[in-house]
Amino acid sequence: MKTDLTLMHPPSIYDFRKRDVVAGPISELVPSTGVFEMYPIGFLAIMSHLTSRGYRVRIDNIALKMLNSTRYEFNEEILKLDTDYVGLDLHWLPHVHGAINLARIIKEFRPDIKVIMGGLSATYYAGEIMRGVKAVDIVVRGDASEIPIEQILEGKKLEDVPNIIYRQNSRIVDNGFTFSPKDLDYQTYDYSQIIRSSIRNFDVLGHLPYCDWTKQPVAMVLTTHGCAYSCAICGGSYYAFKNSYGRSGPIFRSSKKIVEDIMNINNQLHIPVFVVGDILLRPEKDRDYIFSQLRREGIDIPLLFEVFIPHKMEDLQKMVSVTHDVSMEISPDSSNEKIRFRNGRPYGNKGLEKFVQDFLALGGKKIDVYFLIGLTEQRREDALEDVDYSRKLMKMNNNDERLFVFTSPVSPFLDPGSRGFENPELGYKLRFRTLMEHYNALENGRTWADFLNYETKWMSREEIVNTTYDAIDKLLYVKKEIGYIDSEELENSHQILETSRLAVNLSAKGDYGMLKSGEALMKSCGTKYTILKKEIMWGSGGGKMKKMIFMVYKYLQSSRE
Ligand code: SF4
Repeated sequence: MKTDLTLMHPPSIYDFRKRDVVAGPISELVPSTGVFEMYPIGFLAIMSHLTSRGYRVRIDNIALKMLNSTRYEFNEEILKLDTDYVGLDLHWLPHVHGAINLARIIKEFRPDIKVIMGGLSATYYAGEIMRGVKAVDIVVRGDASEIPIEQILEGKKLEDVPNIIYRQNSRIVDNGFTFSPKDLDYQTYDYSQIIRSSIRNFDVLGHLPYCDWTKQPVAMVLTTHGCAYSCAICGGSYYAFKNSYGRSGPIFRSSKKIVEDIMNINNQLHIPVFVVGDILLRPEKDRDYIFSQLRREGIDIPLLFEVFIPHKMEDLQKMVSVTHDVSMEISPDSSNEKIRFRNGRPYGNKGLEKFVQDFLALGGKKIDVYFLIGLTEQRREDALEDVDYSRKLMKMNNNDERLFVFTSPVSPFLDPGSRGFENPELGYKLRFRTLMEHYNALENGRTWADFLNYETKWMSREEIVNTTYDAIDKLLYVKKEIGYIDSEELENSHQILETSRLAVNLSAKGDYGMLKSGEALMKSCGTKYTILKKEIMWGSGGGKMKKMIFMVYKYLQSSRE
């Protein structure tokens, strides 16, 4: 079916299926695989907005299609594609290799299609993209690109469209970065559009957010753009938004819109919702409205809230009583208070411990606590001490199985625009700074150690890599000791880690014999291949969704017969 705009999500590396790589442990901590096939939530906001304006928009998750089959050929799909524009996301920098390669293939096979690129990393590198990647026609800057894209589709003169930098014959024209809407209530996250578009375009796979979505569906609702905090590693921080993304502070979506989005998912799909952004940092009146309204409407799906700081028990109580299944995640980053403060998290361990205890005492379903490796002022011993602290935290809570602790590296890239990336005094030594340096790392590198774009004054790259394996392994033994996992799970996970470590270390010496083939990476889709993957999944439910997906498949099948 003809579309005005096809939103395409690239894999991290194109074509990972023909490469031997070790993707690294970060992919264990997000729902997607090492290909990072999860498309940004902004796709849904763009599709919902433009569809409501009468445009035909579809999502095409190329990363997932490649992950799903060795036979899938992007060139063939492009030859058949009936669209005026392709919108490629370069939101998260690890997609730089995939995004540039998809753009080049589109231009090679279908020069008639205009290629638009957007997302935070595209914003940061807008000028370099236009100068260095001839296949991209337009870059849209900013964290809210629906309106500039709408103006492009309606045929407005490009010189009058805000935030874009574009190609006009052999010239590059830059309209600057002037448009940052303060009211984001025009944005909607309408998941039913995904189902509708799947049916309209006979393409379920291309619309799925990540490979396990039909088994473990999760919807996201964004509550804010930007953040009030400035964590050193974060490209979504106050500092990054102020200096690189055109906002002088976080913008909150209205409480009414948040309730609307969550209730739509509750009523239409009935799947768990991850509420992105710390709702408890909103004014009391706002959050009380959200919680009481959700209760009044009778929400009965699992909810996962992220919080940026520990909150008071009475606030947690209101949150936990919204529905029968409320989970929470918090990232203290380090158990060392000095390191935590230096990295932008202004709270102590006492507050963290009380928060975890309160949440469990109130009957919360699950709480995840995340530590990081590769922070300012953090040495190897500090990262390993985080594991000792994790044991303490678990014991303090009587080994309650609702408490999960994780540790992972800042990987593969420290975010451009973050305080750490921009300020050498924070002790990050950047190995790559430009867009093409990052591209080349993914083009030529073989393991996540090759991809790391930094080391620190306190840990070399080799130390970050080895400390990561040691800390995750140590944490596995703690989990076994405490009874979170059994001997078999420990042994399997330990073997996976050690194989990965050996592959990385041998590769550094020029021996590539143990690298995983792209096909092995494909097999990671649909399998929980370490204990960590199992632990991050949360929420029950999705019955209605599974039925719906089944019905869509049946419908598509019968329409083809
Ligand atoms: S990592 Fe820090 S700066 Fe980034 S969104 Fe979370 S709390 Fe905000």
